[in-house]
Amino acid sequence: MSFKFDLEEAVRFDKMDELASFRDEFYIKEGQYYLDGNSLGLLSKKAEQAVMDLLTSWRDYGIEGWMEGDHPWFTLSESLGDKTAPLIGAKASEVIVTGSITVNLHQMLSTFYKPEGKRTKIAADELNFPSDIYALQSQIELKGFNPDEQLIKAESVNGTTLTIEEIDQVLTDEVAVLLLPSVLYRSGQLLPIKEITKRAHEKGILVGFDLAHSIGAVPHELHEWEVDFAVWCNYKYMNNGPGGSGGLFIHEKHHGKLPGLKGWFGSDKNKQFDMAHTFTQGDGAGAYQIGTPNIFSTAPLIGSLELFEKAGIEKLREKSLHQTQYIADFVEKELIQFGMKKVTPSTDEERGGHIALQHDSAASICKAMKARGIIPDFRAPDIIRLAPAAFYTSYQDLYEAMQIVKEIMETETYQSFSNERNVIA
Ligand SMILES: *Cc1c(COP(=O)(O)O)cnc(C)c1O
Repeated sequence: MSFKFDLEEAVRFDKMDELASFRDEFYIKEGQYYLDGNSLGLLSKKAEQAVMDLLTSWRDYGIEGWMEGDHPWFTLSESLGDKTAPLIGAKASEVIVTGSITVNLHQMLSTFYKPEGKRTKIAADELNFPSDIYALQSQIELKGFNPDEQLIKAESVNGTTLTIEEIDQVLTDEVAVLLLPSVLYRSGQLLPIKEITKRAHEKGILVGFDLAHSIGAVPHELHEWEVDFAVWCNYKYMNNGPGGSGGLFIHEKHHGKLPGLKGWFGSDKNKQFDMAHTFTQGDGAGAYQIGTPNIFSTAPLIGSLELFEKAGIEKLREKSLHQTQYIADFVEKELIQFGMKKVTPSTDEERGGHIALQHDSAASICKAMKARGIIPDFRAPDIIRLAPAAFYTSYQDLYEAMQIVKEIMETETYQSFSNERNVIA
């Protein structure tokens, strides 16, 4: 199907959109086109209400709030883990809401990375987010090794995406653990998680994925695909707010494995308050929690997950793919002539929730967009990311935003903005 890119078409798409009513559940600034839900999702009314509810439970119950109220704090991480499970194709016991990506990665590596004999390396990729790489480096250092030798990274020939052959290169018999993102944060390429896991397992390598850019946007089958572990944050497509608690998945076959980083919130809940100096680990993914959960940074997820349950991840994915296709096709038709290059793969199977565009003046173009009410994000040195959020981006928004971008490129108004990134990009 090809798009017409006119207003009438956008209005028609909005009318046909089964998810259109969810837009009213979110706080959307008048006159703004928010295309940055992949960096920080917007606040929903349900998430706001959930935070208020937990403040009220603190007010009303004091310490009893750990066990009383509609959402007892003591089991909140577990109950939200249960509700997250359908989004990633996991069993309830395999998921826990806790920590942040980097902390959870440290926990998973501390648990799974056991260099032995010849198998001492960790494999990753050269396009991954720096924090993931830092965590891998320190885990190698903690084992007394040199990361320059023990961390190997799949190299991308085109500098933006990875082929299965490029990933195969690092799957050697010296590798203990492979860590990859599900979706590359710059280009938006969705990697073939099932196929990679199969190939790594054939080589005796444990496999972990960072779902930062896929959870809440793309359905997964982590249990069935036998992924060993996964980590994610909830402030991107999950709309859990800035610094909101993240999550981790640990496959059932590994349950009972001693957490590399023990803490009392990983205890068997009935034993936790025995205050014994011997750690009795809890069941399933809950055992990999460390300390007391950040209740107020977890609260928004109560409301947010209700919305996911109502909408269904399959429906959200369908709309997201249609909207990213709209942007991709518009770029091909109207923006290529201005030196804008799409680096996101074209097929649905290889596309996450955002479209990435490359341009030498990307930083100034982003500033020009912001001046016109479009919120994109910029990744140095030359990438513009545009992420429609299926929950709250309307087709009319997309239509108007793309027309504005075209105008900015045609008139070159971006030339009046500096091509330097801001502190937060
Ligand atoms: C957003 C993101 C992070 C951020 O990590 P935090 O520990 O949550 O700050 C890490 N890795 C990837 C791939 C990301 O996209």
